[in-house]
Amino acid sequence: MSRVFNFSAGPSVLPESVLKKAAAEMLDYNGSGQSVMEMSHRSKVYDEIIKSCEASLRRVMNIPDNYKVLFLQGGASSQFAMIPLNLMNKNNKADFVITGQWAKKAYAEAARYGTANVVASSADRTFSYIPKLDPSTFDKDADYFHICMNNTIYGTTFKELPDTGDVPLIADISSCILSESIDVKKFGMLYAGAQKNMGPAGLTVVIIREDLIGNAMEKTPTMFNYKTHADNDSMFNTPPTYAIYIAKLVLDWIENEVGGLEKMKELNEKKAAILYDFLDESALFKGTVEKDSRSMMNVPFVTGDEALDKEFIAEATKRGFVNLKGHRSVGGMRASIYNAMPIEGVEKLVAFMREFEEAHK
Ligand code: PMP
Repeated sequence: MSRVFNFSAGPSVLPESVLKKAAAEMLDYNGSGQSVMEMSHRSKVYDEIIKSCEASLRRVMNIPDNYKVLFLQGGASSQFAMIPLNLMNKNNKADFVITGQWAKKAYAEAARYGTANVVASSADRTFSYIPKLDPSTFDKDADYFHICMNNTIYGTTFKELPDTGDVPLIADISSCILSESIDVKKFGMLYAGAQKNMGPAGLTVVIIREDLIGNAMEKTPTMFNYKTHADNDSMFNTPPTYAIYIAKLVLDWIENEVGGLEKMKELNEKKAAILYDFLDESALFKGTVEKDSRSMMNVPFVTGDEALDKEFIAEATKRGFVNLKGHRSVGGMRASIYNAMPIEGVEKLVAFMREFEEAHK
């Protein structure tokens, strides 16, 4: 068996020990005589899995008791509509910071249901930075304030949170969940598609303050109402049972093998520094993001020559470094170095980049 180093932006690399455990439990989970995939979601054995997944997430992220954890489907993209339907319920307006395509999609969807106001944008320089925010420009009557915390495509991340006062701050944390600790109580709601740091695609996690649940617009479809899922412990309908089980194994890995989110962050900082330090000294490769906005998770870079970028990606793939092609909207390269990417993967990638640079002097 030979495993590649997978730099995909998502779905992406998972910890090898998680995959092995899942493989070992595939035919017979814990003496139940069945795979987790085959179980009724209403069975006692599955109930323990979903409950322990939620308990682990609460421990690892230190989620306060007045927040609900919901295990949903539909991806982060469904949240772009669910958020306004549920939360644009007082003054029918919300503030947005446009830092890339996902932030823009959240904004565009909200604009279908109410007034979506753009507070700041970094579109002027291809989203290569996080704009400075001036709280005096925030709407005090907004029903919520939305940011995309880590911009997967452009490789930027918020280092400082906007001070939104009493207006609930909502963040898309799809590509940075579990990469470091987050002070949950600073947010009204956090949400993420699981397919980067948490598990396979199919699971969407919502962490929402209880007082924000229960005032959805009248037209909100039952399945799009947070109250439906909160009242039924994410069991209103069939939840993504297997994805939740894998997320539980990933959380076990973070707690027991890595040692929690502080340790996770240290490892992620170390990995990102190896790559950024090289990009800063390289005569061939260049990072595309302003230094103070750089993401630990997604690292876009270019050579400045499209043909050479293509050659690099092809050579890298042959050597077992896969999915390094940048997002179709920006081109170049992007190395996504999520939690489960071992440090060895980043060291070997940099060694290969050095070699490529030498050969193209
Ligand atoms: N937000 C961010 C930050 C993302 O990176 C992505 C997808 N990669 C999405 C939203 C959309 O997620 P999904 O495909 O789960 O709908």
